[in-house]
Amino acid sequence: MVNQRLLQSMARRHGTPLFVVDHKVLRANYARFKKYLPRVQAYYAVKANPDPAIVKTLYEAGASFDVASMPEFDIVHENIKDLPAKQRQDWIWDKIIYANPIKANETLEQLDQYKPLVTYDNIEEVRKVRKYAPHAGLALRIKVPNTGAMVELSSKFGAAPGEAVDLIAAAFDAGLVVEGLSFHVGSQTTNFENYVQALQLAASIFHEAWDRGWPQVKILDIGGGFPAPYDAHVKPFRDLARKLNSEFDRLFPKEMEILAEPGRFMVATAATLVAKVIGKAVRDGKTCYYIDDGVYHTYSGIIFDHLKYHVKAFKKGLTKISAVFGPTCDALDTISLAEDLPDLELGDLVYSENIGAYSQASSTWFNGFPPAKVIHINQ
Ligand SMILES: *Cc1c(COP(=O)(O)O)cnc(C)c1O
Repeated sequence: MVNQRLLQSMARRHGTPLFVVDHKVLRANYARFKKYLPRVQAYYAVKANPDPAIVKTLYEAGASFDVASMPEFDIVHENIKDLPAKQRQDWIWDKIIYANPIKANETLEQLDQYKPLVTYDNIEEVRKVRKYAPHAGLALRIKVPNTGAMVELSSKFGAAPGEAVDLIAAAFDAGLVVEGLSFHVGSQTTNFENYVQALQLAASIFHEAWDRGWPQVKILDIGGGFPAPYDAHVKPFRDLARKLNSEFDRLFPKEMEILAEPGRFMVATAATLVAKVIGKAVRDGKTCYYIDDGVYHTYSGIIFDHLKYHVKAFKKGLTKISAVFGPTCDALDTISLAEDLPDLELGDLVYSENIGAYSQASSTWFNGFPPAKVIHINQ
């Protein structure tokens, strides 16, 4: 965690709300992922936090990238645009997956020149890719159980395992190449069995594909979902990694190419938000604090990511249960109805840790309040 005195002095210097990104933590998270899952190449899911400086640090650390729109593609591409054309193409082949199973025709037309790996999960998409991006490689996204994930991702995407082989055949029949399978077990997955079940489903589809004479299907993309340690209840990543490694060895040949798309895992713990108390009232006997950031801004994860963030004070003192609201006029802009806080005064600073993922990325300008200012440290 960033030292408290530094956070306060930065907030005084730059103003609030201030979103502080610690690049040392980004590098440590990436290194941890590689250390515990040595067979897996990490494709950072840019949607968790698309800040170009974050992408750059992970790029320099050796990460690959999962993008889901042309603007996200461009953020990653910016880091390699000075490479010679051949190296640039090799890098894109190796290090970018366009992991949105649904792509507009115009997007496919733009992507085609890069010959990227793209995911799909339905027959209409096969027709679109054949017509608009015939040079793309394909990965079939399959539907897997999302039980116990904080954010469920299986109702919108994923071919039923029973349709998988037909969809692979349809793509080969269309003259395209299916290079692999992908899935997503749901974000912030604490039920590690989801991964085990997904790997078993994938393994049976791979074996059927190989039996059909399609050895080209050889990339296993295990998606995202790796839990960030928001609190002490989250089981250690090490335990999940151990389980994954033993399933890889049990289910797949050594030469299998395995990749993952961690988003939250890389960035959640790398950012801290500092905000300021701008109002205070006692309502129904409870102290209510109004701060200059809220759910339309950096705390947007409360709505979109189904996450709770604790608001902490730098000040010490006897605490009581208080409510914390954001600055807009909407009652939805409620950060917490029960935070343990000391008696705060207007102008006092508060902070929330582990707020790097799905936070600033979905911040709006609602009610005229701009997103928090971003500061990068240890870059
Ligand atoms: C959102 C998303 C990710 C990242 O998920 P995390 O749970 O943040 O790791 C990875 N892959 C796809 C396809 C996604 O939609």
